[in-house]
Order: sequence, then C-alpha cells, then structure tokens
Amino acid sequence: MHTPAGTECRYYFKDYFRGRDRRECRLLPAAAAHEWRPELCGGCPVPRILLANACPNLVLAASVRTTWLGLGRRMETTARCHKSGDAVREPEIGCGQCHLEFEKMRLGPDSRR
Ligand code: SF4
Repeated sequence: MHTPAGTECRYYFKDYFRGRDRRECRLLPAAAAHEWRPELCGGCPVPRILLANACPNLVLAASVRTTWLGLGRRMETTARCHKSGDAVREPEIGCGQCHLEFEKMRLGPDSRR
C-alpha cells in the first residue's frame, strides 16, 4: 500500500470506509502505535529495505525515536534473520545465509561434502 510519503510499504494500513479515517503502521508494536504519525513514513527506511531485499527470512522491527532535545521524531529499524536468529547489520543486503545455500544448490550435490 502507498504511504502518505508516496512509497510502497506492506506495513502501512489505512481505512477510509464509511467516513473512517484510520491510518496505522503495523510494524510498530501495539504499545508504541500511539507514537506513530503519517509524517514518519517520509524518512522511514523500511520501504527502501523491502525494495532492496525480498528475503522471506528477514524480520524487521521498528520503533519511534525522539531526536536530539525532543525536537523531532523518526522511525528506527532493526533487522534479524529468522533462520539463523542473528542480527542483520545491513538489511538492504541481508545476512548472506541463504546465499550460501543457493550457491550449494547451484553447484549440485557434490559441493555439499
Ligand atoms: S512508518 Fe515506515 S514501516 Fe511504518 S508504514 Fe510508514 S513506511 Fe511503513
């Protein structure tokens, strides 16, 4: 779904049905949902990450971070691999675990020894 910033994000939810005006970021945990505002989508790294990395094992988490002196707010994202459980330092690239398996499949059964 398109965010107010014009980017594509699977976590953005809006409902205008029958006069409703409900917008949410469904990546945030429920306890932090009240901190979210649609303007935060503008600087959010998640659409860029989703565009760059389609790995099904990539698990994202987000929080709203208040910037210096409380003057602004921005989205902050962390990522981990569902398969290995490790933190992913560069979510746009991924951790590389799946790439190793793809390489083994490409080379055939002899390479698994
Ligand atoms: S804040 Fe980020 S993750 Fe949440 S809906 Fe907007 S673009 Fe998506």
